[in-house]
Amino acid sequence: MAFTLPELPYAYNALEPHIDEETMKIHHDKHHQAYVTNLNNAIEGKPEASKTLEELVAVAGTLPKPVRNNAGGHWNHSFFWEILSANGGAPSGALADDINATFGSLDALKEQLNAKAAGQFGSGWGWLIVNKDGKLEITSTPNQDNPLMDVAEVKGTPLIGIDVWEHAYYLKYQNKRPDYLKAIWNVINWNKVAEHYAKAKG
Ligand code: MN
Repeated sequence: MAFTLPELPYAYNALEPHIDEETMKIHHDKHHQAYVTNLNNAIEGKPEASKTLEELVAVAGTLPKPVRNNAGGHWNHSFFWEILSANGGAPSGALADDINATFGSLDALKEQLNAKAAGQFGSGWGWLIVNKDGKLEITSTPNQDNPLMDVAEVKGTPLIGIDVWEHAYYLKYQNKRPDYLKAIWNVINWNKVAEHYAKAKG
C-alpha cells in the first residue's frame, strides 16, 4: 500500500503571523509531498513496501538511504503538523508538573530546546522526548532522523518536534533560525503534546 500525504489539520494561514501561509503551502504541498512520493518510489516492489511507516522508522539503520531519509521525512512532518495549532494553550496537569520538575520552568524548557535546535548544524530537528527511563529529555537529530530510529543517539518517544530545515522558516525569517524558534512556541498544540506524553508514560 502506497503512503499518502495527510491533510493539514488547519488552514495554511492558521499559524500566521508566526508561521506564514506561503511557507506552510510550500512546506506541506511540496516538501512533505516529495518525501511521500520519493518514499513510495524507493520501496516499490521491495520487501519494505509491506511495512508500516513506524516499522520502517524503527529499523532505519538497516534501510537504504533513500528509504530511511524519506520515511523519516514522512513521519516527522506528519507529526509536526499535529503538534502545531493556532490556539495551543499551555501545558497543564502531570505534563506541566514534569516540565517544572525536570527543567525548572516552561521558559527554561523553551530556552534549552531552542538552544539545542539552534545548535543543530545544518538541517535537522529539535525534540522534546520521553526517554527510555521515562524522563523528559531534549535532543536533536540530523537530516530526517528522529528519536524513534534505531540509529538515534538519544532514543525515546517524541512529544514535540521542531523542524529546523531552512525550508521551515527561510521565507519569513531568512537566516534568523533563533527568531523562528522563539515564535514557534506561540503555536505549539499543548493538548496534542499532552496526548503524546500520556501515551509515552502509560
Ligand atoms: Mn520540513
